[in-house]
Amino acid sequence: MTASAGGERAGAAPWETVVGLEVHVQLLTRTKMFCGCSAKYGDPPNTNVCPVCLGLPGALPAPNEEAVRLAVRAAYALGCTVHGRSVFARKNYFYPDLPKGYQISQFDEPLATGGALAFVSVERGPVTVRIKRLHLEEDAGKSFHDRVPGKTAVDFNRSGVPLVEIVSEPDLRSPAEARAYLTVLKQVLGPGYVKVSNCNMEEGSLRVDANLSIRPAGSTELRTRTEVKNLNSFSGVERALTAERERQVAATGRGEEIVQATMLFDAATGAVRATRSKEEAQDYRYFPEPDLPPLVLTERWLATEKQALPELPAAKRERFEKAYVLSGAESVVVTATAAIADYFEALVGAPGAGSGKEVWNWVANDLLSLSADGETIPLPVARASEVLQLARAGKLSRQAARRVLPDLAARPADAALAVAERLGLLQVSDGGAIDGWVRETLEAHAAEVARYRAGEAKLMGFLVGQVMKRSAGKADPKAVSAALARALKP
Ligand code: ZN
Ligand code: MN
Repeated sequence: MTASAGGERAGAAPWETVVGLEVHVQLLTRTKMFCGCSAKYGDPPNTNVCPVCLGLPGALPAPNEEAVRLAVRAAYALGCTVHGRSVFARKNYFYPDLPKGYQISQFDEPLATGGALAFVSVERGPVTVRIKRLHLEEDAGKSFHDRVPGKTAVDFNRSGVPLVEIVSEPDLRSPAEARAYLTVLKQVLGPGYVKVSNCNMEEGSLRVDANLSIRPAGSTELRTRTEVKNLNSFSGVERALTAERERQVAATGRGEEIVQATMLFDAATGAVRATRSKEEAQDYRYFPEPDLPPLVLTERWLATEKQALPELPAAKRERFEKAYVLSGAESVVVTATAAIADYFEALVGAPGAGSGKEVWNWVANDLLSLSADGETIPLPVARASEVLQLARAGKLSRQAARRVLPDLAARPADAALAVAERLGLLQVSDGGAIDGWVRETLEAHAAEVARYRAGEAKLMGFLVGQVMKRSAGKADPKAVSAALARALKP
């Protein structure tokens, strides 16, 4: 039993779950946040480093304009107010992967505040989560505790890579909602739409820390929360939060106080365990970064960036539902990425395509299955349109079309008609040929014909199938039915 609507029963008390998420998203820049080193993922350790990102004395940071641009786009995509003036701050702490002894981040004057992200909760329906802030910062290096026996190895390639940190209000009410929020966040910011990041949890370009507390259902208080870390996949987030919620419900049921703690999730066992609480009392001694002036963005530049945003999935869904008469669930399928949505619209707009619903059926059931990544459809719209027209004209059955499509995708220079002919899939509606198959079928199945004539009407389906088989799928099923009906008439 996992997440339930508003909460869960522990003894008599129904509990409500309260979750807020802090998400770090790596911006898709060529170079790092404050130096010219490559930000590429997966290069040999410590090959993309310089005095700035190694924190050598005297090195000075210079902001990456492209990182600022992508952060601003992310903020607008999340409906935030972007501030014309924000301030970089030093966040001081000691850790081996932090060469300067501080991280350049933003604190009391962040880049953006006050956004929102809407998604559909399986439990509550449409939900809007408030976004408290979005700020720019640099990444730390990466520690490896398993490379050198008894020692920790550090790779500084990641040190100084640009991130945005996106902090939500505690508006999520279950582990499943946390996962749904992240899925939509990735859809909006990732390669499908705004393209500011790969949003790949496995590669660490999207990282999640979650805060979770429970409270009696109906209450609005915020109780002591714990922070859950070490979340490496969307399903891991849901599993970890489920484990932590159950732990808190059980502890509260035993009369224990929930203490503030950082919980680590173990994906192998599915359990959470507390880290040493000493790590809790962090005092980062934030202060403005003296090596960087405030980040000042002109209104005009901000307006240009805001206008450059693509239509976002929620707006697209709403428009598609109206313009093409689709249900909510249908519009979700064809707006998975902007490329798929554009494809759908182009196909609806092509000559002789049919209704929005008909085209939806082709995209959802036939064309999307050609896609290896689920992000684009690897067949020119013009060719797909030819297939739809052949089907509408009764020259290609749905099954035959399904066999034509992959061939066509592999050789888009060929016309759909030529491919269908070459594969011998064009439907035969020629009366002579069909009558011949009908005659052969009736001779071969005399017993079924006799039963049909004695009143077993349902055998018609069997006989149609036998004629189709004789035609190797090429006969037009409507013409076959008509020819059979004629031949069987008493
Ligand atoms: Zn560098
Ligand atoms: Mn951060």
